[in-house]
Amino acid sequence: MTLPPEPARLITLLEQAGFSAYVVGGCVRDSLLGKVPQDWDLCSSATPEQARDILQAAGITVHETGLQHGTITAVFDRQPYEITSFRRDGAYTDHRRPDSVQFTQDLHEDLARRDFTVNAMAFHPQRGLIDPFGGQADLQARVIRCVGEPAQRFAEDALRILRALRFAATLGFAIEEKTAQAAHDLRSNLLHIAHERVQVELTKLLCGSHACEILLAQRDIIFTVLPELALLNGFDQHTPWHCYDVYEHSCVAVQHVPPEPALRWAALLHDTGKPACFFMRDGTGHAHGHPAVSAKITLQICERLKFSRKLTQQVHALVEHHELRLLEDDVAPVRLRRLLGKHGGDTLLQLLELNRADVCAQHPDKFYRLANYKPIKQAIEQLIAEQSCVTRAQLAVNGSDLMALGLQDKQLGQALDELLQQVIDGALPNEHGFLLAYIQQSRSG
Ligand code: ATP
Ligand code: MG
Repeated sequence: MTLPPEPARLITLLEQAGFSAYVVGGCVRDSLLGKVPQDWDLCSSATPEQARDILQAAGITVHETGLQHGTITAVFDRQPYEITSFRRDGAYTDHRRPDSVQFTQDLHEDLARRDFTVNAMAFHPQRGLIDPFGGQADLQARVIRCVGEPAQRFAEDALRILRALRFAATLGFAIEEKTAQAAHDLRSNLLHIAHERVQVELTKLLCGSHACEILLAQRDIIFTVLPELALLNGFDQHTPWHCYDVYEHSCVAVQHVPPEPALRWAALLHDTGKPACFFMRDGTGHAHGHPAVSAKITLQICERLKFSRKLTQQVHALVEHHELRLLEDDVAPVRLRRLLGKHGGDTLLQLLELNRADVCAQHPDKFYRLANYKPIKQAIEQLIAEQSCVTRAQLAVNGSDLMALGLQDKQLGQALDELLQQVIDGALPNEHGFLLAYIQQSRSG
């Protein structure tokens, strides 16, 4: 394992001052898996104040990010490196945070407070891998296992329950039996965890390449934090289109959209309104109007879990419009231009991905529709590339041009809308002279 120059330099500086220092946690795990770590975290026997003084004396920018928990952040080239003092956690009474933390000189104590064996390894350029809990063996066996007694570790901090699912979903690992049992038994403690922390772990879980398996295998835990999904579990749609119940359908759809937060959340939540809208007619199930109900439920979930405003807006829009049926039959170019004007290019392409995933999660008899995916995608991309006129701002006339013709306020807006309709429908070319002539004519007529 080779360290990049920045963490290696931080270790050297701290050790020259008489302390010990290691890289630790996720970066060690990911390096051993042959992946490039997202960020390099360090741990050290120096107190945070000592580490700060040593690094600042060497001319390094330091932020006191969590001084009382023992964490400072060194910055090189705008890249942050967290340095946490070796810590031992005091008693836990709120299922989330230790009541106190004590700094220690013992690396092993610091590794023992960490959540899973694969996250409880440290590495030093000269002293090599420090792995007291068999993390490397568990990496090879592809297992998520608590450090210590699982029931105790989850009782201390219930967020670890979701972290176990998250690492299983992102790494494609199994959850060791006792760890899985304790996670299941203690799942109600998740109700004590701050919603934004739940959201962060769920979003990472959903973006994992094995998200579907975990969502299906760990339903009870998922339903504890997303009770709205429990209604979908076992809900038979009574239609030949579907071979899964609504929950399974949603999980399979998750797996078929690209691993981006908005799309993964939208795939998971797109049918949450189905049970409320469901009715039987002639022996077949229907759920007319369910996208609007799903969108309402989605909004409640986004607000409760404290999604950012942008993510909320994206997920809500995708769920609300997930039934565009872009793959169903020949989509006329006029319809595509209208949709592009209404939703914008990025969202329309995401809606296409969601449509595709929705079909992938239906009965295989419907898979023939997937043949429409590529041509529609190309058609949308072409409209975007050629900057086809689909919004008022793209029209070859603007408000001042129309004011010069004597139009004002409401009339002016209506005229622009009408021109846009004509251009999108292909009835008028988007050319200044033609557009002005059309307005002049309709005013005189
Ligand atoms: P990622 O690649 O997502 O950053 P990571 O393993 O680095 O994965 P972080 O959330 O950044 O995860 O946490 C850094 C390290 O801190 C973990 O590897 C683990 O050793 C420890 N850790 C984080 N959260 C907890 C927790 N709730 N309980 C115990 N140890 C934790
Ligand atoms: Mg990390």
